Amino acid sequence: MNREWEMIIGLEVHVELSTKSKIFCSCTTEFGGAPNTHCCPVCMGMPGTLPVLNKEVLNSAIKAGLALNCVIEKETRFDRKNYFYPDLPKAYQISQLYRPIAHDGYVEINVDGQVKKIRIHEMHMEEDAGKLIHSEFENETYPDYNRCGVPLLEIVSEPDFRSAAEVAAYLDKIRALFTYLEISDCKMQEGSMRADVNLSVRRIGEEKLGTRTEMKNINSIKAIERAIESEADRQVAVILGGDRVRQETRHWNDDKRSSYAMRSKENAQDYRYFPEPDIPPMLISDEEIEAVKKSLPEFMGEKKERFVSQYGLSDYDAGLLVQNKKEADFYEETVSKGADSKAVANWLIGYFSRIMKDNILEFEDIVMSSDELAKLIGFVESGKVNRKEGIDVLEMMIKENNIEDVEKYLDEKGLFVSNDNGELLKVITEVIKENTKAVEEYLGGKEKTIGFLVGQVMRNGKGKFSPALVKDMMEQELKKL
Ligand SMILES: [Zn+2]
Repeated sequence: MNREWEMIIGLEVHVELSTKSKIFCSCTTEFGGAPNTHCCPVCMGMPGTLPVLNKEVLNSAIKAGLALNCVIEKETRFDRKNYFYPDLPKAYQISQLYRPIAHDGYVEINVDGQVKKIRIHEMHMEEDAGKLIHSEFENETYPDYNRCGVPLLEIVSEPDFRSAAEVAAYLDKIRALFTYLEISDCKMQEGSMRADVNLSVRRIGEEKLGTRTEMKNINSIKAIERAIESEADRQVAVILGGDRVRQETRHWNDDKRSSYAMRSKENAQDYRYFPEPDIPPMLISDEEIEAVKKSLPEFMGEKKERFVSQYGLSDYDAGLLVQNKKEADFYEETVSKGADSKAVANWLIGYFSRIMKDNILEFEDIVMSSDELAKLIGFVESGKVNRKEGIDVLEMMIKENNIEDVEKYLDEKGLFVSNDNGELLKVITEVIKENTKAVEEYLGGKEKTIGFLVGQVMRNGKGKFSPALVKDMMEQELKKL
């Protein structure tokens, strides 16, 4: 972006809660399913039905609010947001406007070592709408109400972002917090985390905010970053071209890397909000808030500090391990099975992540017993199995998950380092006999050649001799010549 300009961004993030049932009825919240099979008269908005709040939604909201350092509202209420759209059979959405569950919080993000606080204006509970399926072949649209009434939290930030990288760091942070809380899976590709980007530009040094546009429902963090860069450039070009930016909602097409105007943006008064008459206000006591506070899990920062002090890890290594709660848990489990804490960290951060990257796997995809991993690490680190062979076995465990008993497997494949010096001597003698040229070179003073000879022994021994021992014995044997 042009250096004389800056972008001002505020975000509205919607997160679907992973409660078993919907927010106001007992229908399942499961993703997918045949269209219109996860709904009932309540979530389809039939006249005469009444909503009943799912207590778990309120609990999750209090947890989320506390994790976002918010003030929890002690008398929170729902409001009706009226609008007509075919994916919303009631023609209103139950949401919160006047007394949202949480407000005035913040999230700390870290971009290139710079820590910054992003203020949270408010966070509220609401119900999701359904989906419209547009037929590709006929000029027809089909409503699917399965998603109607799935509980959402909407987190509204202050316009504190100044770059796409800050937005990405913030979304990563929210995803980390909510997956640590286990209240949402935050999968952007399935729509369980969605972000609306409000963006305007102004010349650096100017106080007044420019007119903002909104981009909705972009489904990956990378795409959001691209959309932000592109929209900021577009707005600057509009202004420099002598025109003005229009307040509108724009649709980002990530394949074409461009956006187009969808409609002019609504204001709150367009929705004719009024208090939801069917649900009484919810009173939350200090005791309840305290109880939820006590139930909060250990978050990344605390976990990282504990990993440093408890397991003797470096700040950097601990920081990498706690990025993903599942990986952090797996780390601790493996260490508890008797493996060395630093070795396990090195294996997970090093070999493990390289193999996952090479095979495009996510940690969530991997099924592995921490018992077997602990054993494998122990064998390699104590020199009972050579490192190269150990890593090959790890790769098989990650990719195939077909090694039930790692000790038995290593034994059957003859991968344990042999202590049989007689056997090793036999292989060395053969290699010396078969490689007279290399031996002559070595004896002639070209000492590097020993690497080649050791390699031949390692190969012929199929990885079962220790390389250090092979080198020692090889040297002794060559001296005798
Ligand atoms: Zn229902």
